[in-house]
Amino acid sequence: MSMTRNVMVFIELNDGKIADVSLELVCEAGRLARKLNTGVVAVAMGYDARNELMCLGGFGCDKVYYTDDSRLSFFSSVPYAGIMVSAIRKYQPGIVLFGATTMGRDLAPRVASALRCGLTADCTQLEIGDHGIRDKEYKNILLQIRPAFGGNIIATIVSPESTPSMATVREGVMKMAEPDPSGKTEIVMEPCCVPDEDFLTEVIQVVREESSVNLKSARIIVSAGMGAGSPEGLLLVKQLARTLGGVAGASRPVVDAGLMDRCCQVGQTGVTVRPNLYIACGISGQIQHRAGMEGAKRIIAINKDLEAPIFNIAHYGIVGDIHDVIPKMIKAYKAKA
Ligand SMILES: Cc1cc2nc3c(=O)[nH]c(=O)nc-3n(C[C@H](O)[C@H](O)[C@H](O)COP(=O)(O)OP(=O)(O)OC[C@H]3O[C@@H](n4cnc5c(N)ncnc54)[C@H](O)[C@@H]3O)c2cc1C
Repeated sequence: MSMTRNVMVFIELNDGKIADVSLELVCEAGRLARKLNTGVVAVAMGYDARNELMCLGGFGCDKVYYTDDSRLSFFSSVPYAGIMVSAIRKYQPGIVLFGATTMGRDLAPRVASALRCGLTADCTQLEIGDHGIRDKEYKNILLQIRPAFGGNIIATIVSPESTPSMATVREGVMKMAEPDPSGKTEIVMEPCCVPDEDFLTEVIQVVREESSVNLKSARIIVSAGMGAGSPEGLLLVKQLARTLGGVAGASRPVVDAGLMDRCCQVGQTGVTVRPNLYIACGISGQIQHRAGMEGAKRIIAINKDLEAPIFNIAHYGIVGDIHDVIPKMIKAYKAKA
């Protein structure tokens, strides 16, 4: 390992289980670390989670700095931020990544503000590159890429004069690699130096409502846009999804109109999906929607406007009215099945 500063990932534990987004970020940290010829380290805090953390080796994490304390069983902003800040000061990473989850969105700004370093939220891409500002040239810095100004531009944000560079990334944006069963990680136990008075909240009960739709793990998604935003259109989209053994998704205006549940929304402010097949029905293909589905292996777009931007990313495009096209697709599929 070189002397270059490591790439650090905050590991989110929910009920003692590592969140998928943390595994995705460890894989992404590995990609960045290889470019920098450095290593991947992680910081975790919780209670009795040492064994769970061992799996991080399979995803390419070299070391985990773990603070174990029964008071850390549930997320609490002040203690968690304090531990993260101490770990960053002690181990001096060059880059720190957080999941853009409720926990990460609470934690990352506190940590960035305590350390007075840059933070870019909701990155959709991370790269290592050079950047020149006036007469200064910065080498091998983190390029934090995300849509900005309502998605009208894709901005590359850098914070070269403060270390570390920090970024949050939403679940599903980075790819999770298959774990290598031979991969090992070293767990370094860290003392918990948080005083009792920093635990400002007491968790009395946790009530979880499971999402009725699991878009993230669906292999086939049929999504409705405003072009399918009528009761008949939605019925057709759901019928096609059911016929193909898939799940129905939606664009944001369809959700905002109350036509489908919030958990069905695909896109920048919804879920990021990577199914084998994504069928966009009456979706124009604005950047905010594309941000959530461009990683699909195959994209079929049905739109009556030949100029719709969705056709620029679709593998197969059908120019037509969804009310004509979807029934034909269902009929053709049933005839073959
Ligand atoms: C900060 C921000 C975040 C956002 N986040 C998201 C997000 O997470 N997800 C998201 O989806 N959007 C998001 N949006 C909104 C996004 O900009 C677009 O407005 C939205 O994606 C458009 O949805 P749509 O394609 O369903 O509707 P429209 O843009 O209205 O497109 C409807 C399409 O349907 C076609 N059509 C109409 N009738 C038919 C028919 N009968 N048959 C076939 N085609 C037909 C039309 O040709 C058109 O292309 C966000 C916007 C902002 C500013």
